[in-house]
Amino acid sequence: MRKFYVIDSKAQKRTDGFMQYTDIFELSRARAEISGAFTGSDLPDLMSMLDEEIGKADVRWHAQGTAGRNDLPGADLELCARIQTRCVRCGEPVVIEIDKTVPFLFVKNEKEANDIPIEEDGDYEIVVGSRKFDLAAWIEEELILSLPVFAQHEDCQPDEERLHTKQTGKTQERDNPFACLAALKTKK
Ligand SMILES: [Zn+2]
Repeated sequence: MRKFYVIDSKAQKRTDGFMQYTDIFELSRARAEISGAFTGSDLPDLMSMLDEEIGKADVRWHAQGTAGRNDLPGADLELCARIQTRCVRCGEPVVIEIDKTVPFLFVKNEKEANDIPIEEDGDYEIVVGSRKFDLAAWIEEELILSLPVFAQHEDCQPDEERLHTKQTGKTQERDNPFACLAALKTKK
């Protein structure tokens, strides 16, 4: 049975319930969990990389504190996102789905980060933590890193799609979008 800590009292919430900051070292130490959701308006840098007209983002996330790996505070960040932009090939909307868990280690400052030998990085991403850690910026950066260089449909056939535009729209909404979101929700 896993322990579940609520650290909401330490997290700072805006009046609309949006949680932007948390004490990431405390999250790690207590092996606490937090989760939340962001949309495009919370993630301006991400939005600037998407199509101006149709770009949008829907993100759910869950962070699990993992103290002590490599003797450093850490957290596993689980991301489930649907990001819409324009296909570079056919010009129709395309939805990029991101479903990943990334292990992080937190250091106190950049010097400490530089002191970690590369071979000890393993699969971890190392970021400078904070007692007032900006969750939106953290998640936004990871999403940006996850975007493909060119957003396009799998097997995009520009000519054929122009003939079957409607059908393409349907295909987009098909098989259980946000399956990973449902999984995240049931974790609570
Ligand atoms: Zn396309």
